[in-house]
Amino acid sequence: MTSRNQQLFEQSQKVIPGGVNSPVRAFKSVGGYPVFFQRGQGAYFWDVDGKSYIDYVGSWGPLILGHAHPEVIRTVQATAEKGLTFGAPTEAELEIAELICKLIPSIEQIRLVSSGTEAGMSAIRLARGFTGRNKIIKFEGCYHGHDDALLVKAGSGALTFGNPSSAGVPQEIAGHTIVLDYNDSYRLEETFDKLGNEIAAVIVEPVAGNMNLIAPKAEFLTTLRTLCTQHDSVLIFDEVMTGFRVGLDCAQGLYQIKPDLTILGKVIGGGMPMAAFGGRREIMQYLAPVGAVYQAGTLSGNPVAVAAGLATLKLIQETGFYENLTNKTRQLTEGLTVSAQKHGIDFCAQSIGGMFGLYFSKHIPASFAEVMACDKDAFNRFFHSMLIKGVYFAPSAFEAGFVSSMHDSSEINETLSAAESIFADW
Ligand code: PMP
Repeated sequence: MTSRNQQLFEQSQKVIPGGVNSPVRAFKSVGGYPVFFQRGQGAYFWDVDGKSYIDYVGSWGPLILGHAHPEVIRTVQATAEKGLTFGAPTEAELEIAELICKLIPSIEQIRLVSSGTEAGMSAIRLARGFTGRNKIIKFEGCYHGHDDALLVKAGSGALTFGNPSSAGVPQEIAGHTIVLDYNDSYRLEETFDKLGNEIAAVIVEPVAGNMNLIAPKAEFLTTLRTLCTQHDSVLIFDEVMTGFRVGLDCAQGLYQIKPDLTILGKVIGGGMPMAAFGGRREIMQYLAPVGAVYQAGTLSGNPVAVAAGLATLKLIQETGFYENLTNKTRQLTEGLTVSAQKHGIDFCAQSIGGMFGLYFSKHIPASFAEVMACDKDAFNRFFHSMLIKGVYFAPSAFEAGFVSSMHDSSEINETLSAAESIFADW
C-alpha cells in the first residue's frame, strides 16, 4: 500500500522539479522519499499520514520556540488582521531594528530583507561598493545562500580562484571568489599576503552549520579579524544559522570577535520569511538611498514577518532561556554518544547552544575534509531507523541539527531510548 506521503511525492515531481521547493528536502542524500507535513505543535510535527515525529530540524533553524508557539501565532494573527503589507515604513520595523542593534553591538545599522540569500548577496555587494574591490574569500563547506558569487568551490592548485559549484554561474563571477579551507589560518595568511589589497570581504559562518557542525578554532576567528583589519577588508559573519541560536549574543558574542557586517535570518523571522544584514554605520551608509550601493525589496520588513520576529526575540530574552536550551542540547548529544560508544560504534557528537552535530566517526571533525570522511552510510541507516521510530533528524549527514525550547527531557529521553534500541541492534 502506498502512503499519502509517497502519493504526494510522485504527484509533486510532475509539477515541481524534484518534487520540492528547496533541494535538501528531497532526501536525495539519505535516499527514500520525503515526508510531507501538515501541522506542528511544540517539539512535534505530524505528517500527512498522521504519524508524529520529534523534530530536530525546526525548519532548518528558525523554530527555536518550537512549532506554532501560542504567543508568536497570536501576534501574527493580530498583525495580519491589520493588513499584510504596506510597502512603506512601519513602527514595528523600527522596533525590531533597535532591538537587534541593542542585542548585537557590532550592528549599528541594519536593513531587513526576506531571505538569508538576499542578506548575503547584499552584504557582498555592499562590501564591494565600500572597498572598491572585487575579490572575496569564502570557505569550503560554508553556505551563504545561492547568490552567484557564493556558489563557488575551490579551483585546483594553490591560490587559484574558484569554480562555479552550480551550472548557470558564469566563471567570470566565480573567478572573483577565493575558496579556502575552514579553520586553516595558514592559507588565509598566505592569501592575504599575496592579495590583501584586492580583497573586498571575507564571509564566514562563525560556527559552520552547513557541513554538519564544525566548531571554529579560536585562532582562526582571531586571524580573520586581524587580517581583515590590517588590509581594510570587510569581515562578514554569516550568522543566519548561529544568530540567536548559539546564544543571545550570537557567535560573535560567544567568541568575542566583532565583525564589520553580520547577516541574520532564520530565528529573527520566527518562522516567517525575514532576514537582515547590518554592521558598522560607516559601511551601511553606502546603501541606497543615502549611498551608491543599490538594494531594495517589495516585501522587506513585512509587518507579519516582523511581528513573528519580535515575538520570538522577546521570548528568547527570558532569563535562563539559553542555559536551558544549551543543557538540553547537550543532554541529547551526550546521551547519543554514550549509547553508541557502549555498543562499540564509531560515533561522536557535539553541541553549541541549541545546535548540534552528529558524526559517525571516531573523532569530532574540525575541517571539511574530516567531515567528508565520516561514515555517510551509517548516518543514512541511523536516520531512517530513527525516522521509523518517529524522530526526525536533518535528512543529510552534512547538516547541523536544532533543539527548541519546547523539547523537554521527556522528548530527549524518548529520542535516546529510540537510538539505544537501534545502536543495540547495529
Ligand atoms: N547562510 C547560512 C549560514 C544558512 O544556513 C542559510 C540557509 N540554510 C543561508 C545563509 C541562506 O538562507 P535562506 O535559505 O534564507 O536564503
